[in-house]
Amino acid sequence: MNEIINYIHKANRVVIFTHQSPDGDAMGSSLAMYHFVRGLGKSAQVIVPNAFPDFLAWMPGADSVLQYDTQREQANGYIDQADLVICTDFNDPKRIGALGDRMLEMTCPKVLIDHHLYPTNFADFIVSVPEASSTCELVCEVIGDEAIRQLGDKAKDIATCIYTGLMTDTGNFSYNSNRPQIYPIIAQLIELGVNKDAIYNAVFNQYSVDRMKLVGYCLYQKMRVFPENHAALIYLGRKELYRFNFQKGDAEGIVNMPMQSKDIHYSVFMREDKATPDEMEKNGGIKTKIKLSFRSQGDRPVNVFASEVFNGGGHANAAGGEYYGPLAEAVQLFLDNYQKYFTK
Ligand code: 5GP
Ligand code: MN
Repeated sequence: MNEIINYIHKANRVVIFTHQSPDGDAMGSSLAMYHFVRGLGKSAQVIVPNAFPDFLAWMPGADSVLQYDTQREQANGYIDQADLVICTDFNDPKRIGALGDRMLEMTCPKVLIDHHLYPTNFADFIVSVPEASSTCELVCEVIGDEAIRQLGDKAKDIATCIYTGLMTDTGNFSYNSNRPQIYPIIAQLIELGVNKDAIYNAVFNQYSVDRMKLVGYCLYQKMRVFPENHAALIYLGRKELYRFNFQKGDAEGIVNMPMQSKDIHYSVFMREDKATPDEMEKNGGIKTKIKLSFRSQGDRPVNVFASEVFNGGGHANAAGGEYYGPLAEAVQLFLDNYQKYFTK
């Protein structure tokens, strides 16, 4: 892990990339590195492939993040000058879309800190620990508690970013959170000034009334249950999203809800979206993208279904994928395959 610090000490202009549709761990890990690198007196810039949800906009440093889909010229200015790339929370350049193609053209060193299985070998140095709760846990280890303390004012910002990723990637410590070593880390973060209750509120209690109604609609009208396989499927088309004034981030967490039933061991959520111009180019001009989320409980991996059928991947109990084409086709693909993967 110290090797990453050596790369940072040698660099002066660092760009930090994290995955598409950034979540709390993606934002937390990239922004923690941002504050750390700047604290060492170097230049740093976080670049994300596309927008992050509004409920993460309060994070320290979030206002400085550049979006590659809408701020490409400005982002390329930093990329052209960079002498180090730090990648966080993704295991393959494909997970950052067009930014990945640009990254592969870069000649400066690249390092990766991640907790997804099977990283591809695109970086010069890789910290990959799939057992870790989150990339933020690994970032905390890489930076080191002592180093964070020495950063004075910035220590609280780094700690806040790290806590956010730990909290969101474990569903507020309800899954992926049995490794004992994360709890001393949390105690240290609180000592550095983290207000964990405020972070919970800022992330999880910020929904609109429209979104609450969307959740009601999903559970009452849209949840299909497959009792023999202990599975649930919810899917939403564009018209339904429009009806509930859908905003980015509103779908977050809906996939977890069926898991609250003792009868459900697997949950899948599908949402119709528009493909970006880059995605259309890569998928024969198809305009409709279906984004899928998979969840399961215990020893029932869902990442295999996600990767074999829906070109995705992720963790055993939380995975995702995508399909380019009409929603009805994606639903049919699910119906044709779920019995093979949802077996207990
Ligand atoms: P979510 O359902 O919260 O969007 O994603 C859950 C997890 O699945 C993410 O942490 C990520 O690891 C993985 N994931 C989501 N979408 C994709 C995808 O399109 N491709 C791959 N490889 N992994 C994904
Ligand atoms: Mn993560």
